[in-house]
Amino acid sequence: MPILGAHMSIAGGCRRAVERAEAAGCDCVQLFTKNNNQWKAKEIAPDEAAEFQAALAQTGISHPIAHDSYLINLASPDRRLWKKSVDAMVVELLRAGQLGIPYVITHPGAFTTSSESRGLRRVIAALDEIYAQVCGIPVDCLLETTAGQGTSLGWRFEHLAAILDGVKEPERLGVCFDTCHVFAAGYPLGTRSEYRATLRAFEAAVGLGRIKAFHLNDSLRPLGSRVDRHAHIGRGAMGLEPFRHLLGDCRFRNVPMYLETPKGTEDGVDCDVRNLAVLRGLVLKPSRPPAAQAELPQRRRSRPPPREPERDGPPRTEGRGRRSV
Ligand SMILES: [Zn+2]
Ligand SMILES: [Zn+2]
Repeated sequence: MPILGAHMSIAGGCRRAVERAEAAGCDCVQLFTKNNNQWKAKEIAPDEAAEFQAALAQTGISHPIAHDSYLINLASPDRRLWKKSVDAMVVELLRAGQLGIPYVITHPGAFTTSSESRGLRRVIAALDEIYAQVCGIPVDCLLETTAGQGTSLGWRFEHLAAILDGVKEPERLGVCFDTCHVFAAGYPLGTRSEYRATLRAFEAAVGLGRIKAFHLNDSLRPLGSRVDRHAHIGRGAMGLEPFRHLLGDCRFRNVPMYLETPKGTEDGVDCDVRNLAVLRGLVLKPSRPPAAQAELPQRRRSRPPPREPERDGPPRTEGRGRRSV
């Protein structure tokens, strides 16, 4: 069974995100370690970190992962905003380290008034600066695939490859693969052959071993729309099939997957609970004939080994209409 969870609110303290994840039946949890719409944050007290770790131990929730603030833009051509973003990302990594969270997911950023190539160079310079400042802290960044809204970088797999190729410490960088974003960016996932072709393209450009987390979201907007709007699993333009392919892909059996779908309840049922049930139902009831499944072990054998040991896991986005993580 895949490792399935969701992004959870930290209202009331980071420990509460773990408790909310347990209540929804999650295996893993994503959280912001601070208010995601503010630069500043109250420091994490030692007892809050201890409570967070105790909650993980008590609930059995694994793979905690952090998502960075929406304000951070490592691709900014504006020197002040770029520096502020670097400083804020350093704080994000330090906070994750305090909480024992191994990864912080970040969007590569938006080049705004410059260009794609200059934006990518800014991201590379930012990551080098960030790692220089946090050397010795066992927390790494995961670049999230994006939908490509506006001047956002990271919607083409080649953007991620360029960043990985450019940084001084690529071993400290992984990827979070967001299904909604990849689909909205124009990579089809619906049929089995489309899924395989998109994953092959990712493997060729970036490497599947770089994927340390997934965001499982359906997309309100169509393939190639480059608009980032999350939908409940199976209820958007993607439908259920991409999730069936992904959850049945044994190459990702140990990679945590987090929902970032809209929150709330429907007919008295918590939306996270329902989305998790939909996903788990896809694993229990594969629709593919056995012959089609026979391909996976072969592809798995051909996968190059991951460049670093498996680590714990990932972040999320808000509901419809808001900028998604
Ligand atoms: Zn999103
Ligand atoms: Zn996401």
